[in-house]
Amino acid sequence: MRVLIVEDDPLLGKSVQAGLAQDGYVADWVRDADSAEHGLGVEHFDLVVLDLGLPQRDGLTLLKDLRRGGSCVPVLILTARDALSDRIEGLDAGADDYLVKPFDLAELCARIRALVRRSRGRPAPTLQAGDLALDTTQRRATLRRRALLLSPKEYAVLEILAGNPDQVVPRTRLQSSVYGWEGDVDSNALEVHVHNLRRKLGKDRILTVRGVGYRLVSSAHR
Ligand code: CA
Repeated sequence: MRVLIVEDDPLLGKSVQAGLAQDGYVADWVRDADSAEHGLGVEHFDLVVLDLGLPQRDGLTLLKDLRRGGSCVPVLILTARDALSDRIEGLDAGADDYLVKPFDLAELCARIRALVRRSRGRPAPTLQAGDLALDTTQRRATLRRRALLLSPKEYAVLEILAGNPDQVVPRTRLQSSVYGWEGDVDSNALEVHVHNLRRKLGKDRILTVRGVGYRLVSSAHR
């Protein structure tokens, strides 16, 4: 799951990024509205954590611009502005949630999970694809009710595939969702994770769609 943090405070940006990473998110961080708008224009993000007090264009203006441009990305405002009128204005401008600083990182993560679930049209925290089930809160997967031992990256790949069962997920989408802007990622790393997942799930469960990406088969064929 990929989150864009828009925050000009270096300490806060860094700590939110580290906290989200620890919780299994790929969190990219920008410090101003222009960079955020550019990032959202070229890459897929599951959610934006948006500070309001930003240099130049402020967060509220950015949010209005995004919504005017048709962007549906879930936005959680994270700000020190705690007045009721600010909260109402933020939500009315198109934010999906509003959290006031200082905040608790565990609560931020729980709110993010809830928003992403809602945005995908399934409020329950469990993903089901045939006999494969994922608990997206605990980040655990079971196959025929038996726990699968997965690395964090393997789980991240599987969660995206299982969130789009029987659909082709583009390789570029998987790559960016699992690695973000980390940069020096071995281009074969994704293949290695898919290989390992096939070993654990059965090799016919994840199909390669040549030149495009991968598809998770929701029911095991015999
Ligand atoms: Ca700020």
